[in-house]
Amino acid sequence: MTLLRVAEPQEERAQRLEREFQAVLDAAVDAVVLFDHEGRIELLNHAGERMFGYKEEDVVGLKVNILLPEPYRSQQDDYLRQYIEAGEPRIVGIGRELLAKRRDGSEFSAEIAIGRVQGTDPPRFAGFIRDITVRRNAEEALRRSEAQLTIAQEIANLGNYVVHFDSNLEDYWSPHLYRVLGRRYGERYIGVYEYLEPMVHAADRARWQQMRDELAAGARSADIEYRIIHPDGSLRYVHHIAQTTRSTDGRALRQVGTLHDITDRRRAEDEARQMQDRIAHFGRISTMGEMAAGIAHEVNQPLTAIATFAQACQRLIASGDFELQEINDALEQISGQALRAGEVIRRLRSFVKNREVRREPIEANRLLEDVRMLAQTDARHHGVRFRLESSPDSPHVKADAVQIQQVILNLVRNSIDAMQEIPEAQREILLRTQIDAEGDVEFMVADRGVGVAAVASAELFNPFFTTKPGGTGLGLSISRSIVRAHGGKLWCSANPGGGARFFFTLPAVPAPAGS
Ligand code: ADP
Repeated sequence: MTLLRVAEPQEERAQRLEREFQAVLDAAVDAVVLFDHEGRIELLNHAGERMFGYKEEDVVGLKVNILLPEPYRSQQDDYLRQYIEAGEPRIVGIGRELLAKRRDGSEFSAEIAIGRVQGTDPPRFAGFIRDITVRRNAEEALRRSEAQLTIAQEIANLGNYVVHFDSNLEDYWSPHLYRVLGRRYGERYIGVYEYLEPMVHAADRARWQQMRDELAAGARSADIEYRIIHPDGSLRYVHHIAQTTRSTDGRALRQVGTLHDITDRRRAEDEARQMQDRIAHFGRISTMGEMAAGIAHEVNQPLTAIATFAQACQRLIASGDFELQEINDALEQISGQALRAGEVIRRLRSFVKNREVRREPIEANRLLEDVRMLAQTDARHHGVRFRLESSPDSPHVKADAVQIQQVILNLVRNSIDAMQEIPEAQREILLRTQIDAEGDVEFMVADRGVGVAAVASAELFNPFFTTKPGGTGLGLSISRSIVRAHGGKLWCSANPGGGARFFFTLPAVPAPAGS
């Protein structure tokens, strides 16, 4: 190669070649530096001048390691000595990445290859230096975005994969996919469906297989939730979305998919459902006062009927003019009505069974949060948004959480009902807690609905007062008695700017230790 000829003895030829060589060097994109066996620079090409900020004449005769920062600078001398003493084939090596140093002291990533100019004795060396800052930066950016993606997947508990059907390209599994499937990163790869197959819960297998069949039969996408059993035996819920890219003739080329572990969300939903069931159950039994009113009414009817039939019998017997059949019919009515009354009482019993009221210190803001979660679906369904203004003092109240949630939920439901006629953009419920002038915790549920007329506001709290076709008219009266039983009060006022505001207070208690 060209460098070899540089050392050729013939004077003229050598000079011509030297010029040509110089021209080639100056045209080179990489920096080229020639140096002797002591590491003294003999030549630096144009690219090298630009890259390092030196003029060639400034560096000729200086040690080549001025182009390197520490620790490479010191190592360079050792490498050179080793090479010359032991005849090692390389000094720095080929394509090694290290840092280089400009005249102004700044450093940059460089790929360096150094070789001996053959046929020279004492040996001379040529170094080729490529600035790889741009490549390095791109690699770094890629590495960073991959790291961010991995973190995002970890946070979301989501993994993704790419399967190639039509090329030799390797399938891809994101590191977090192994976790989602309960495997160790780097385990032998056997294809995502082969992995999944034995893990799918028996009860979901038919649906899962159907998804696979549909994808195989030409469907472009699938979206399915199912359960899998991890190798450690734990049960997880996953949301699997797959998208298949096909060629124009319908051949599957590639499938991209995500598997999202939604176990926690599912559990939270289950808990919310259970909580709602409890509250619904409680809603029926919450205050015995109101219940008693309803029950009394229901029991009264059969009792009145019994009395009426009994009196009729007495009159018939007293008159002496009766058919036995008539007496028998009346007695049958009496026993039927008695059974009906018994049934009412039995229902009442099952209503009030198994709930013990437990008052514990609980954070007021938590109660609002819980209700927001419970009512979210209902609210969304009716186009209503929530805004929460939690008291920054995080006050505590001593309360039966379920009962107070029931109260707030009732107010929220009324607000949702009251806003059905206004434009959806304005349907907002403000939930607020704050400490009032007496130091009690004040809860507020405010809406932009139809509002409460001043005349009606006293009546609202009466049992059975309702303006709704399917209303019971018991919500507010039950809520008020619950709040009173907790030592607080419940009232309403107009919301400045439209709608109603319902307030209730509960005495504040100190936060329990360790909360
Ligand atoms: P129900 O909701 O079954 O009617 P409630 O006792 O909860 O029973 O409410 C009684 C009545 O009070 C409602 O029918 C309604 O007329 C009125 N009301 C309650 N909350 C609101 C509110 N946020 N805005 C306007 N009116 C309300």
